[in-house]
Parts: sequence; C-alpha cells; structure tokens
Amino acid sequence: MARILLVEDDPALSRGIIALLKAAGHAADTAKDGETALFLAEAEPCSLVILDIGLPDMSGFDVLKKLRARACKTPVLILSARDHVTDRVKGLDLGADDYLLKPFDASELGARVRALLRRDHGDPCPVLVIGNLTIDRSRATAEICGRPLRLRRREWAVLDRLTAKVGDVVSKEKLMAEVFSYDDAVAPNAVEVYVARLRRKLEPDGPSIKTMRGLGYMLTAS
Ligand code: CA
Repeated sequence: MARILLVEDDPALSRGIIALLKAAGHAADTAKDGETALFLAEAEPCSLVILDIGLPDMSGFDVLKKLRARACKTPVLILSARDHVTDRVKGLDLGADDYLLKPFDASELGARVRALLRRDHGDPCPVLVIGNLTIDRSRATAEICGRPLRLRRREWAVLDRLTAKVGDVVSKEKLMAEVFSYDDAVAPNAVEVYVARLRRKLEPDGPSIKTMRGLGYMLTAS
C-alpha cells in the first residue's frame, strides 16, 4: 500500500510495528537513530514517517525539525511515552501530523496509519469503485463483480498504487520505490512480474493495466 519509514530504537517494539505494517501490505524501512532516519528519508522517499522521540543520538523532535527544514512534506506520526501536553504541542507545532502515546493498541496505530495515508493520497474515502472493481483500503480487500480477489501483499500494493491514479501513468520507478523496502532483495523485473500476475487476476471483468512503453503503467476502467 505504501512505503513507511519507522524510526524506533527499541528492537522489540520495532519488530512488532514492522510486522503490523507488513501484515497491512506496506513496505517498511527502519532506522534505530536520527542520523539513519535522516539519511533514509532523503534516499528513499516514503509516504509516512513513524517517529519515536527518545532516540540514542538526537531527539525525535530534532529529526522532525530537520525534515521540515529540508521542505520534506511527508506526514509524520510521533510515537512517544512522553504524555505531557507540552510535548504533544511541541511535536505538532514542529510539523507532526499526529501523536500517539506509548503504550498503544496495535489496532489504533493501524487506524491512524490508514487515516494519515488516506489524507496524503488526497482520498479520504477508503472504498473505491472502478468499473467492476471495488477496493476497500481500510481492509486491504478487492472484489470484482462481488467476487473477492485473492491478492498477495505486493500484488495488493501495486493495485493500490495504480488505483490511486486511475487514468494516469505511474512510473515503474515509483511503483518500485513504494512497493519494496530499502533492504528487500529485488530482481530488476520485479514490478513487471507483479503487474503481470495482477493483470491475470483482474481479467476478464476488471479494469485493465496498460503498459506505456518507457513511461510506466496505467489502470483504466474499461
Ligand atoms: Ca526510544
């Protein structure tokens, strides 16, 4: 669905959140400190940053300040055990989009991530109908003429990106960047492989995915 950068130095919490994000179909990168976070945010553009405040080399507030100073507009969700109102105000005033207190419930984190991504995609409605295809982003499900599609995680991610831009060309590089994380070992033709699988699953009643030679792919309702 999206590429997310998680900045969290607690290994157990980081593993738990990554598992949650991957189960929801996202590609996730992790940084254990502020320097790595700033490097990755620049090297691999993402759709959302989940940011811890207590980091070993600098505070999450400093990371946020530097991101915004570089004109990075990516939504930022702060995760923090600091429950004082002045911390929440500081985080939001520095440019965070949401603030979730630790400990939190996995379902609440999932819902906030979905809400921020919807807003970022300029699409507040989680259910999208394109011809015979209906997709529900909040449940990560798709159906054609009422028949559920069985999609693997990355097939879903590719479909989600293409349906967000119906009738527009989405470049292969953009799909590659949003579907795979930094440390995934990816074959150069991976995007073609997933698009081909997805095409077979959408046929014959669903929308078609056109290959625009040298440009990328376009999903059309016909
Ligand atoms: Ca921490």
